[in-house]
Amino acid sequence: MTNDSVLIVGSIALDLIETPYERKENVIGGSTTYALIAASKSAPVSVVGVVGDDFPKKGMDLYKKYAHNLNDLKIVSGKTFRWGGRYRENWDDRDTIYTELGVFESFNPILSPSNQNRSHIFLANIHPDLQQLVIDQNKNPDALIVVDTMNLWINTALDGLKNVLSNSHILLINESEAVMLTGQDTINSCARALQDKGPQIIVIKKGSKGVILFSEKDQITIDAYPIEQIVDPTGAGDTFGGGFISCLANGETMDEALINASVLASLCVEGFGTGAVLGANKKEITLRKNYLRDRIR
Ligand code: AMP
Repeated sequence: MTNDSVLIVGSIALDLIETPYERKENVIGGSTTYALIAASKSAPVSVVGVVGDDFPKKGMDLYKKYAHNLNDLKIVSGKTFRWGGRYRENWDDRDTIYTELGVFESFNPILSPSNQNRSHIFLANIHPDLQQLVIDQNKNPDALIVVDTMNLWINTALDGLKNVLSNSHILLINESEAVMLTGQDTINSCARALQDKGPQIIVIKKGSKGVILFSEKDQITIDAYPIEQIVDPTGAGDTFGGGFISCLANGETMDEALINASVLASLCVEGFGTGAVLGANKKEITLRKNYLRDRIR
């Protein structure tokens, strides 16, 4: 594996997904799964995580196919992390039906020597204390650390989250979470307040309204790719994260990383679970990238 590789920590899950039109159980999901599938299109990926002995073979096969290094993926006796989510007609609101930590409850991520020296680390959505344990074991002072989070941790693990932010370079966050975390009411003031917490690059995701990246000096604004029909929004944020960091690991520009992330996220919501990103063809990805490239500001 090259040094320009991505290490991902996050959840590996069996999801129950209910949309207004469909309901599926035991969908292979979790923030790591979505991020891995997206990232593997641009860079070699290692995973640190845990599953229970109930994790199905098709899930393991998926990990074997898309990850280059699974040394730090542990299979232990017990239940895989389970999450259930329900979407309403307008797709904006999502209710969490349940979150069952299972084997994540006692998970202590241990990085093998090669994973202590990755060039890029994606702290996908998981408890901030687990994200911090991965940061603590990183031995590469030049590693670029990208962090994602969710409202749950802002509400229940704020100190841990602040600690992680102080050790990260790039934060990916939804607009509503940015407001919640900073108490600011404009997107610009949110970004500045978040930079004060550590990461100098803040990527604020605005759903169908696109994303804005704030760096010390400038801003990059990019529209969302206009999709025709939402099928299932689950994992769009994680897909965005995987698509973003892997382009950076591949030596591409911030603009290109944002374009790739947005395109893969747009595909994600057009299919159920990981289906559309797994099935995406290169021609469609290129078409969508060209569309967004013409609209970057
Ligand atoms: P997203 O739609 O980007 O929020 O990602 C959805 C994925 O996140 C699902 O596959 C869930 O398994 C996973 N997920 C939901 N809640 C949590 C949580 N509290 N910690 C870690 N992963 C979660």
